Amino acid sequence: MMKKSAIVIGAGIVGLAVARALTIRGYAVTVIEKSSKSVGASIRNFGMVLPIAQPDGILFERAMNSRRIWKSLCVDAKIWHDEVGSLQLAYADDEWQVLSELAELYKHRGYTLLNSKQTCSTSYPIVSHMLQGSLLSKDEIIVDPREAISKIPEFLSERYSVKFIWNTTATSIIRDTVFAGTKSYSADEIFVCSGSDFETLFPEEFANQNITKCKLQMMRMAAQGENTRLGPMLCAGLSLINYNSFSVAPTHSKLKARLHVDFPEYIKWGIHVMVSQNQSGELTVGDSHEYGLTPDPWDKALVNDLILKYLNNFAQFKNEKIIETWNGVYSKMKSGETELVIRPEDAVTIVNGLGGAGMTLSFGLAEEIVS
Ligand SMILES: Cc1cc2nc3c(=O)[nH]c(=O)nc-3n(C[C@H](O)[C@H](O)[C@H](O)COP(=O)(O)OP(=O)(O)OC[C@H]3O[C@@H](n4cnc5c(N)ncnc54)[C@H](O)[C@@H]3O)c2cc1C
Repeated sequence: MMKKSAIVIGAGIVGLAVARALTIRGYAVTVIEKSSKSVGASIRNFGMVLPIAQPDGILFERAMNSRRIWKSLCVDAKIWHDEVGSLQLAYADDEWQVLSELAELYKHRGYTLLNSKQTCSTSYPIVSHMLQGSLLSKDEIIVDPREAISKIPEFLSERYSVKFIWNTTATSIIRDTVFAGTKSYSADEIFVCSGSDFETLFPEEFANQNITKCKLQMMRMAAQGENTRLGPMLCAGLSLINYNSFSVAPTHSKLKARLHVDFPEYIKWGIHVMVSQNQSGELTVGDSHEYGLTPDPWDKALVNDLILKYLNNFAQFKNEKIIETWNGVYSKMKSGETELVIRPEDAVTIVNGLGGAGMTLSFGLAEEIVS
């Protein structure tokens, strides 16, 4: 029997997850990527697989399925990863109240409420002044996205003979054929995983969707030296109003109202602050959220200053030198949908719009789409 064939456009995490799901189901897979390596949102993020940010139900299950796939893939492809978990810190009564409610509501997830002394012993840079405590989750995994997004194609090629065609922009798709300038490639199924590039393929379909782009600013702090592993990814009050999974707490809306009054500049730029650590000991710090179909290309010093100021309230490091700044742009649905999966033509599926959760949800989503 002839193998069924598939073409995947885009070698970001969504395209790689779809390629993996297809190849393990026996498809002959070709991935077409416009750059010599993927340099989109998937290499610009924290590298956090964050189930805690997902509400109960299909999304949490999808995140945990992704986590399982990430773990085995990292082992198989020799990708550095660390099952660090995450620590949500509380410095005010209302933040602590929300964390206490979440610990109760998410009892089945096994989160632990830590007092301030226990919290400080979990991670060395945590600021103890005014600290009320924290919520510890053990589910989160960190990868270095720059390493992971370059090693997964190598692994898929070697293990499953997935073919990668780099430096090639898919310029149009007609029925079962992808055109790239004068070249053409045909397959039984085509998956368009083009991230925030809504302009090249199916622009009318994207224009008809409730989808936009979001630009985020990020920073990297220098390596911290020996014996300075951060442990869990750290975040504090503002993150409690960034993720849907936290909004189930009964007093969440009161906390949200207070943070809007106390931090108007942070709300304006969509800032919440997280810090994680890569395998070299460097710290990834971010982020902000600016929405619109044509994001400004420049980074705003004001936004980075606000992020660092907030970070300083909950974590202080030996070496706070900023060695890199960048921004990333992802696509996001505007009305709360968590992804866009549509079939504009019989053989074509668009998979897009995973917003700030692409590292967390892509592998699980791909399993659902391809099965
Ligand atoms: C700063 C930042 C922090 C984040 N932090 C996290 C996090 O900690 N955890 C988490 O779960 N998620 C996080 N995210 C979200 C996550 O990074 C995105 O959801 C995810 O990377 C989107 O993946 P993608 O494959 O859709 O897009 P991309 O990574 O942008 O990939 C799209 C690819 O398609 C290619 N392409 C586009 N058009 C064509 C064409 N016509 N022909 C050929 N190739 C084409 C592009 O070159 C690109 O390589 C973060 C995002 C950002 C920006």
